[in-house]
Amino acid sequence: MTATVKELQSDHSRLFRLGKRSFVSVYPVLSRRAGGISVGVNLNLDRGCNFDCIYCQVDRKSPPAPSPVALRDLPGLVLEELSLLFDSVVEGAFFSTPPFDALPDSLRSVRDIAFSGDGEPTLSPVFSEVAEEVRRFVSERFPASSSPILRLITNGTGLFGEELRRRTEKIFLQAGPGEIWLKFDAATDPFYSRIDRSHIPLARMKEGLSEIVRDLPVTLQTMVLDFGEPGSPGAFVSDRAFWDPLLAQVATWCETGGKIREWHLYGVARPPALSGVRAVEDSRLLEWAKEASLRLSLPVKVFS
Ligand code: SF4
Repeated sequence: MTATVKELQSDHSRLFRLGKRSFVSVYPVLSRRAGGISVGVNLNLDRGCNFDCIYCQVDRKSPPAPSPVALRDLPGLVLEELSLLFDSVVEGAFFSTPPFDALPDSLRSVRDIAFSGDGEPTLSPVFSEVAEEVRRFVSERFPASSSPILRLITNGTGLFGEELRRRTEKIFLQAGPGEIWLKFDAATDPFYSRIDRSHIPLARMKEGLSEIVRDLPVTLQTMVLDFGEPGSPGAFVSDRAFWDPLLAQVATWCETGGKIREWHLYGVARPPALSGVRAVEDSRLLEWAKEASLRLSLPVKVFS
């Protein structure tokens, strides 16, 4: 991997400019997991999230700048920015301008449009409206054979409700190529409370996630990290006490009809807003992935 590719994979800045225009919601990044360019759609300009993950890149210590766009105008703005970006890909400007001009040919394609961003996308009041518009945009603009897929990256909480889950299924999984990537970072209270730091009880999360995986085909994603220097306050290591219950929960889902397509274990690749988060060694991820794929009969991939 070249230094440039590594640098771009580590830089998921939301700041994107095309000529004189600064984008507000849409931001392209080089994604190690998508295997090319992923076009992010950030609907959480207020950084709204019901988790406060210690590995989150979003700095919530200071209040966000006032949004440059009213919520009612966000759907239109997303479509405008997507149009401009894809026009620039077709016209050649995108891959001939830094930083993406440095990419090898193999990575010069847009793989997905990912609802991700500065908070939990399903919490945005305009989430389903924008997702429907983006699905329409993709269907009208691309033949099925070369269409970027629509990907939702979520902690799942918005999908606990039946109505939004059905709408999301229709948009992301039935109306064209798409995937739902579902976060599942910890299966025990001590790790969940230290890693995801949410006011939502773990028991409620497990109940809601169980409903989702029974109902919808998903890719699970788990961040594996250590925190703090050994012996310092709040320090922890993600050891077997972390891993065994996590694997047991995923095994239970698989054995009870869960539609889990893949499981991604990933390490810290970009600096989080909170200091003290430490990447784990690759060998730990690889050993656990091997153990999980043998036990679960499903692809378990490592991204470190
Ligand atoms: S769920 Fe995502 S946006 Fe929310 S705190 Fe965690 S990593 Fe950040």
